[in-house]
Amino acid sequence: MEKDKVNQLYNFFLTRSLLKKYRENGRIVIGTLCNNVPEEIIHSMGAVPVRLLGLSKSTELASAKIPTWLCLYSKRIMEDALKGEFGFLDGIVGMTSDDTKSHFFSAYSFYLKPRFSYLIQIPYVRDETSLDFFEKELRRFIGRFTSFFATEFSEEKLKESIEVYNTFRELLNDLSELRYADSPRLSGEEWLKLLLASTSMLKEEMNDHLRELLSKTNDFEGYKDYKLRVHLSGTDFYDVEIVKMIEEMGGIVVSDDLCTSAGYYKGFVEGKTLKDLAKRYLSQSACVLTSGVGNLSIEDRLEFIRERIRESGADAIILLKDRGCEICGHQCPFILQEFSDFPTLVLDLDSPYPTEQLRTRVEAFIESYG
Ligand code: SF4
Repeated sequence: MEKDKVNQLYNFFLTRSLLKKYRENGRIVIGTLCNNVPEEIIHSMGAVPVRLLGLSKSTELASAKIPTWLCLYSKRIMEDALKGEFGFLDGIVGMTSDDTKSHFFSAYSFYLKPRFSYLIQIPYVRDETSLDFFEKELRRFIGRFTSFFATEFSEEKLKESIEVYNTFRELLNDLSELRYADSPRLSGEEWLKLLLASTSMLKEEMNDHLRELLSKTNDFEGYKDYKLRVHLSGTDFYDVEIVKMIEEMGGIVVSDDLCTSAGYYKGFVEGKTLKDLAKRYLSQSACVLTSGVGNLSIEDRLEFIRERIRESGADAIILLKDRGCEICGHQCPFILQEFSDFPTLVLDLDSPYPTEQLRTRVEAFIESYG
């Protein structure tokens, strides 16, 4: 993979320079607090949806406002927000996809007072009643948005945005195939950098970059010098440094079920209407909350992990367990039991990261199973 190009794109995530530019050019920029916020709706109304992710390494300011035991994901967003790093935002949109995200939405709105804020209600069970409710809820969100920003919503524009996002998903599916090869032509570090870059620009622009990268993949014969193919499991994880460390130790990350990666882009919108869109977001099987009728959400998640492992040929799982993540805490034992015949390593993550300890454990794991 073209390292320079990947790093150049990643830099947009680190500097947020494009987002600031969109704002200077008069675009509405909206921060989303969950991978399950239907970005297509915001995009179709001429605004730029941005997945909020904090870059702060320490979280002293956040700890004075929200509980210190919360997940790193919410603490880092709060820290960056309190430091004024999200001054380019016109508003935020959250979702009731877990308790932390719901309460964090309130805390953010209370302390930061964004001009516009909306919390989308997502139902738990996937059936027709829930789908009708969810579609109505999305219409209510659209109503609030259009009246606040004096913009317009049309099914025609939504159709165009759905196409842009489906193309994005298709290109990522093509790229992920490169990870599944015996000699992966894309490392886990490069993959995560691209996913993070995609949160910092309009998807139509990202699609052009992905097409360019895909056209050049044959120039590289792939990574052969690795000992273990790794599946990464977790929630809102996006620390490139940890993935880099796993790969320096001889692992290669070939798949994941992270909310910031597979849980974000997997699954097309089948159709072009608001109802079709609602269906896609309600049936997100990587989602840690929603479930089919008669089964548990964890069962859907386990199946999602199984599928990723099947297609990528991963040999082992590294579970990234954020100590403040309620979902990781609840689901980790299920995942360990389900994959008990599979080499699995659990890494407890807390800030600051005990880097040397993590490095030693990863090294021992890869040496044992590689
Ligand atoms: S899923 Fe976990 S990491 Fe993500 S917001 Fe909820 S508690 Fe935080």
